[in-house]
Amino acid sequence: MTAQGTVKNGRLFVISGPSGCGKSTLCREILRRTEARLSISATTRPRSKNETDGVDYYFLSEKEFKDKIDADEFLEYAQVFENYYGTPAQPVMEKLKDGQTIILEIDVQGAIQVFSRFPETIGILVLPPNREILQQRISRRGRDDEDTIRKRLTKAEWEIEQAKSSKNFKYMVVNDDLDEAIEKMVQIIE
Ligand code: ADP
Ligand code: 5GP
Repeated sequence: MTAQGTVKNGRLFVISGPSGCGKSTLCREILRRTEARLSISATTRPRSKNETDGVDYYFLSEKEFKDKIDADEFLEYAQVFENYYGTPAQPVMEKLKDGQTIILEIDVQGAIQVFSRFPETIGILVLPPNREILQQRISRRGRDDEDTIRKRLTKAEWEIEQAKSSKNFKYMVVNDDLDEAIEKMVQIIE
């Protein structure tokens, strides 16, 4: 997927924001309350015990992932915390052609690739109320050791700066009170 294109009849949203700010929690509710559908990403990161292959992610080996890069099967991909993450292009393009609303929940590097390929993409940046709360949320999720938590916090600052300088992130939603944030996201998407 190298050429610039259009999303035809469907609408394409990108939801980005630092790891732990609440993107998955918000997306779960958006899927319940709207007709939007979430693209399932591929990743080389190990599956954690509460995740299901083909539901949360397609969990691939590095070789499998790189073969898909070579076969040009990703709409975008990026290396995040030493692992690869990418959006399989075909299902997204088919659903957009079919007029569906698609959400990509991806990091800012990936979002910028999607914006340059599909300029009409609508970006929503989800922000934590502050760094301390972000740290608590990452810890409470119970998935990461101390070192990974530190890396996620360092990346968060860089990611927020990058996103704020992109004009495609038209909306910013601070995920403080969960119900209010859900309401805002649903309004934007509808
Ligand atoms: P992300 O997908 O951005 O990495 P998650 O959705 O996994 O983040 O959320 C990280 C943690 O924060 C989870 O334990 C989740 O339940 C919690 N969380 C999400 N939104 C809120 C909120 N508004 N208030 C309090 N806790 C929240
Ligand atoms: P996690 O390991 O916490 O599930 O995800 C780590 C980061 O990777 C998050 O910022 C998430 O948005 C991002 N991510 C998930 N899927 C994709 C994808 O397909 N492409 C890109 N570029 N980032 C992704």
